[in-house]
Amino acid sequence: MIEPNEDLKRLIRTIPNHPLPGVQFRDITTLLGDSYGLGECVRRLADRLRDVGGHKVAGIEARGFIIGGAVAAALGLGFVPVRKRGKLPFETVGRDYELEYGTDRVEIHVDAMRPGEKVILIDDLIATGGTALAAVELFRTVGVDVAASAFVVDLPDLGGSQRLREAGVPVATLIAFPGA
Ligand code: AMP
Repeated sequence: MIEPNEDLKRLIRTIPNHPLPGVQFRDITTLLGDSYGLGECVRRLADRLRDVGGHKVAGIEARGFIIGGAVAAALGLGFVPVRKRGKLPFETVGRDYELEYGTDRVEIHVDAMRPGEKVILIDDLIATGGTALAAVELFRTVGVDVAASAFVVDLPDLGGSQRLREAGVPVATLIAFPGA
């Protein structure tokens, strides 16, 4: 049987043991560098997100900026960067989250969105969901609902997409890599 989006999956490069032994790094730069692949990826995500009622699209640093910016333009919406600690120039609001070793923080500008608005959250890949869930909680603290989230790649066995759905966020993904 042909998997959905098999044509796009074939354009993703897997790098074994990067950045740590045992990690299969799913490198989307080969997909982004392909004129057919980039356009199709953005078009298919945008088709899944057109009717969710988002006021803006937010992308998570850094690869989420590439996909999120393109999807925002395809949907005719503005873009909000979700950045790691200390990168945004204006006043920010942030949320700390646990990593395997230590903590990290996601931040947005205080005036990026208005309370009551809805955002569509985008990243290249969802693994444990820690980063995306922190972003969801951050938006919720400023009164913004995450109408939907979207990822090019899902690593379903790491549980992130399920965690997001359990948190009440609809999840759209194009390609799944079972296993770690
Ligand atoms: P997580 O917070 O565990 O869902 O991790 C998601 C973030 O880490 C995304 O921004 C991905 O770009 C990156 N990431 C995690 N695991 C991988 C992997 N196996 N291949 C490529 N990127 C990954």
